[in-house]
Amino acid sequence: KRNVLIIGAGGVAQVVAHKCAQHNDVLGNIHIASRTVEKCQQIVESVREKGSLKTAGELQAHALDALDIAATKALIDNTQSQIVINVGSPFINMSVLEACIQMGAAYLDTAIHEDPEKICETPPWYANYEWKRKQRCADNNITAILGVGFDPGMVNAYAAAAVKEDYFDSVDSIDIIDINAGSHGHYFATNFDPEINFREFTGRVWSWQNREWVKNKMFEVKRTDDLPVVGSQTSYMTGHDEIHSLSRNLDVPNIRFWMGFGEHYINVFTVLNSLGLLSEQPVKTAEGLEVVPLKVVKAILPDPSSLAPNYTGKTCIGDVVKGKKDGQDKEIFIYNISDHEQAYAEVGSQGISYTAGVPPVAAAILIATGEWDVSKMVNVEELSHRPFINLLNDMGMPTRIKDEQGDRPLSF
Ligand code: NDP
Repeated sequence: KRNVLIIGAGGVAQVVAHKCAQHNDVLGNIHIASRTVEKCQQIVESVREKGSLKTAGELQAHALDALDIAATKALIDNTQSQIVINVGSPFINMSVLEACIQMGAAYLDTAIHEDPEKICETPPWYANYEWKRKQRCADNNITAILGVGFDPGMVNAYAAAAVKEDYFDSVDSIDIIDINAGSHGHYFATNFDPEINFREFTGRVWSWQNREWVKNKMFEVKRTDDLPVVGSQTSYMTGHDEIHSLSRNLDVPNIRFWMGFGEHYINVFTVLNSLGLLSEQPVKTAEGLEVVPLKVVKAILPDPSSLAPNYTGKTCIGDVVKGKKDGQDKEIFIYNISDHEQAYAEVGSQGISYTAGVPPVAAAILIATGEWDVSKMVNVEELSHRPFINLLNDMGMPTRIKDEQGDRPLSF
């Protein structure tokens, strides 16, 4: 058994807590820490209400500012946690990682580190922060698994499966497609923190093409796919963490990320952005009040966690992989379908949080069982994809594959 400390108390943390509870026979005691302890307590209550704990065990809430490395170390020590699942805001990654290295705890996260001062950094993203700690992790036998949500995360395992299994002789392209075909019923809302969400789209779009970084404008390049369950969907080329690690770790010349947006979302986003309402630069009103436009927009938009109860529809996220097999062109699609209503019924969160929150718990279980306890810092595609995909098939996040033989469940 390995005790787990969950850092953060947002939508993703809620899913992580429920899933850890469902597997506390392997994972042991569960502690949840965030700046606002009330949010952690709400998660604890929700886990108890739904009866998610598989066996009797500790489940406790704590107040923590995770930018305070000494406080984080003390909490890891007091709770005797061997695994830390960091699902707080991406600004805290480096301080949580530092605390883990000093305490000898395994570290997991689901998003790349961000500096609040810098909007939209240029590649190489992981090398800007996380990978600078690779040597220290290796020297201290620390297992650190970066970006183990859905995207990044599951989609990296899908890419590894496509390249390492026997589907292709050579792989030419990996296109990761992320479609949320769900509906929250509001005029406009973001599925997670607007500050983080908009940062993905306000800068340049980077992709890996012909083994080089290519720069585009947001909403400049689009594609339309006929996808399982969600049907015909248009998605737009977007920059994303996993393009960087996949381009380093897999020998594939073209790696791109595509995110689905409806026309309505794009229109509202374009108006907000064109007016300067997504800016993080403070402005002064005529009354002498200093305000940050993005903070105002965040304050008036629906709280992402409030979307969950009425969210309907499904998500479809996966990798379209093209290459050659026996001299012939070949294409496969490895993917997952998740359902917003099902996610809410099971763990009280919407589908986007669900897809991000289940994989890190599977990773924690694989660390506890030893299969992924690699004593170094890795991205998901460097690990064995088989136990991960198999375990997630049994944890409510089944993988499917569509190829010339049809559309069917994938397991190894
Ligand atoms: P939320 O914004 O809902 O929650 C973030 C949490 O982090 C809050 O509870 C917040 O506390 C806490 N936090 C922020 N700063 C600190 C700090 N200094 N110390 C302690 N706690 C802090 O985020 P989500 O749940 O939506 O997402 C969590 C993470 O998952 C993010 O990094 C996000 O980018 C990532 N993600 C990854 C996906 C994937 O598929 N890979 C998909 C979706 C999200 P407080 O409440 O007090 O503000």
